[in-house]
Amino acid sequence: MDTCPLCALPHTPGDLTWSSQHEPDGTVVWICPTCTRAQLWLIEAGMTIATPRAPAAPEPVRRAA
Ligand SMILES: [Zn+2]
Repeated sequence: MDTCPLCALPHTPGDLTWSSQHEPDGTVVWICPTCTRAQLWLIEAGMTIATPRAPAAPEPVRRAA
């Protein structure tokens, strides 16, 4: 079962109050509502938030070729 990487709360599949975060390697991390709110400013800033492999390296900005 997936758990919140920030507080280890177990994620119930189909619980729409959780937020999914797609990692560069294709995995999906689920963030619980409480931690989503705490991390919201990071999400809005387009930054990768904490994961089990944190601190995540910032993704390089993809520039239009
Ligand atoms: Zn959490």
